Amino acid sequence: MSYSQLDRPVQFLKGVGPKRADSFGRLGILTARDLLYHVPRRYDDASTVHPIGRLDVGMDATAVGRVRSKGVIPTRRGLRIFQAVIEDESGMITVAWPGQPWLDRKIREGDTLLVTGPVRFFHGRQIQPREMTVVARADAEGDGSPDTDPRGRIYVTYPASEDLPQWVLRDVFTRNLDALLGWADDDEYLSREGLERRGLPSLSKALTWIHRPESIRQADEGRRRLAFDELFFLQLVQASARRKATELEPGIQHVRTNELIRPLHEALPFALTEAQARTLREIYADMQAVARMSRLLQGDVGSGKTVVALFAMLLAAEGGHQATLMAPTEILAEQHARRMRELLTPLGVDVTLVTGSLSAAARRDALATLASGAARLVVGTHALIQESVSFRSLGLVVVDEQHRFGVRQRMALLERKDVRPDVLVMSATPIPRSLAMALHGDLDLSVLDELPPGRTPVTTEIKSRDERDDVYELVRSEIAAGRQAYVVYPLVGESEKVDLLAATDEFERLRDDVFANRRVGLLHGQLAATAKDAVMRSFLAGEIDVLVTTTVIEVGIDVANASVMVVEHAERFGLAQLHQLRGRVGRGKDRGYCILVTDPDSGAMERLEIFRRTNDGFEVAKADLRLRGQGDFFGSQQHGDPGLRFADLLVHEDLLATAQREARALTASDPELTKPEHARILAQLRGRYRERLEMYGVG
Ligand code: ADP
Ligand code: MG
Repeated sequence: MSYSQLDRPVQFLKGVGPKRADSFGRLGILTARDLLYHVPRRYDDASTVHPIGRLDVGMDATAVGRVRSKGVIPTRRGLRIFQAVIEDESGMITVAWPGQPWLDRKIREGDTLLVTGPVRFFHGRQIQPREMTVVARADAEGDGSPDTDPRGRIYVTYPASEDLPQWVLRDVFTRNLDALLGWADDDEYLSREGLERRGLPSLSKALTWIHRPESIRQADEGRRRLAFDELFFLQLVQASARRKATELEPGIQHVRTNELIRPLHEALPFALTEAQARTLREIYADMQAVARMSRLLQGDVGSGKTVVALFAMLLAAEGGHQATLMAPTEILAEQHARRMRELLTPLGVDVTLVTGSLSAAARRDALATLASGAARLVVGTHALIQESVSFRSLGLVVVDEQHRFGVRQRMALLERKDVRPDVLVMSATPIPRSLAMALHGDLDLSVLDELPPGRTPVTTEIKSRDERDDVYELVRSEIAAGRQAYVVYPLVGESEKVDLLAATDEFERLRDDVFANRRVGLLHGQLAATAKDAVMRSFLAGEIDVLVTTTVIEVGIDVANASVMVVEHAERFGLAQLHQLRGRVGRGKDRGYCILVTDPDSGAMERLEIFRRTNDGFEVAKADLRLRGQGDFFGSQQHGDPGLRFADLLVHEDLLATAQREARALTASDPELTKPEHARILAQLRGRYRERLEMYGVG
């Protein structure tokens, strides 16, 4: 791999000594390249920055000006206000920070400040800023005036830190950007023709636009290029993982005889939805092809994934292979087995259940039927495939609940040399297609975007804490009608002792007071697995009326008799998470209720209101992503954060499809990237994207 100046440590850049290099390191900037790709988080231009002379009382404005004078002013009531007068060529204005006298030590006369906030009248016009950045330092080496920024009119604000304030970053960029941009070509992997075809700027142009834009639009254009690169390389790694999984060694060509598929069609008490039929066609085609299947089946709770999986399993079985369905917990595995038996036993087909709670002898017998091939359809937990259980001819593995089964586990499954089954991963967390592509680009995607007819949507209501008595009343009347309820408390991380304490306190209050004479159970993540299991089983058996719980219930089981889901502190949950919770009720024939208890002043009402209005999981996920931003969204999703820095999946959705198409085409035409024209792509992969390669096991 050729060496680039961009690989050199930041420390050798102008104005960066060992101490600053440490500070840069804490921001994740180790090399010159890292600095070049440290992109601004905000741009201000004439459309946002107002000439100071034209600021009017009542505006919410951004202004940039040099500090002319400053000082701390005491008030009669003992409050100390730091004030600065800033000016530009059009005029001057006072900027005031009540209660922040320490700013007097941070801000100097001659500094250039960028401030955003409301303009008020107080002995003349005054801004009280929400946000303030020192964009240039009076006594910085070199000329600290903002006009050293060659374009002058656009103010860029970088992600900064306590020991690397904005003005230092800007100063370091001012001194080094020309050199950095001169090296940007080292990373260019697209030819001039390739750039034109995609309508993208060159890397050096894109980075110039990002750091020194002439307009905000230009900065956005630059960012689009980086977003494309990021998505392209992510897709390339995934395409390579997909190739390894599906093509390097052939899979099984399943043979359809209809021996089992037809009787199940005839026995089903309903017709498949259009979406189920389409999805099944996709799966059958994959399974009958030489290439190995590696497919994600996505669908909202209740969209009928299990039925689809069952048909796929029958295809494997009727062609002479074994099929297995793996669930994240024993209870879920048992539930799947029970449901499958209801449908298949009348057809004379057995379902073998293998879980940890089998006796040693029963387990030995079960495993023997897997090894002999007598067991055609097998249900178990994820442990089933990770252990070295042997099958006579495993033809299909269905993995339920994708987010408990990470990329690494999936890869481990594919690593097994003895079996080459087709793989179908089912996810009940509906996410927008673009997200699914970014997260799971190594899989093909089937989406169940339609619910079977005749479902009564769950009624969602938002209640304030003052109205909790009404909520309890509803719960009591549902219990009186023979139904069950969940009360969920937030527990952000399992280690959050305070939350847990609050939840257990509440449990005692509900048990002893609110629902005295009813059976109240407690379930949380810190209980031992066997204890959790026992509580869940009694709830399932109807021996508990109200289950007080934390989000461990999210990927829980189906209790058809549960009709109410009360979520306390609903503002602390993401919408997608709330949707999962809501999916726990209304699964039987009775109407389901989802009651969100929240503080109306928490600032979450807009979010919760959107949630209340729709029952569509895909819409909920999209809103969640839009409102929270992708960082928080992924953080709470357990999907694994794809670690995107430049691509915004809502803005750059169109790039994703292109990136995936191109990455897959490239992998097909030059899988090892050995052609000379792909040398630079290979170098980038092995350099900047090494960690990704390792994660997907394709290093
Ligand atoms: P998911 O696994 O996607 O949450 P399930 O497969 O458990 O959904 O299906 C939920 C319920 O809907 C089950 O009781 C199932 O029998 C029923 N069901 C599935 N497909 C259909 C259909 N096409 N029409 C009517 N009911 C269906
Ligand atoms: Mg196949």
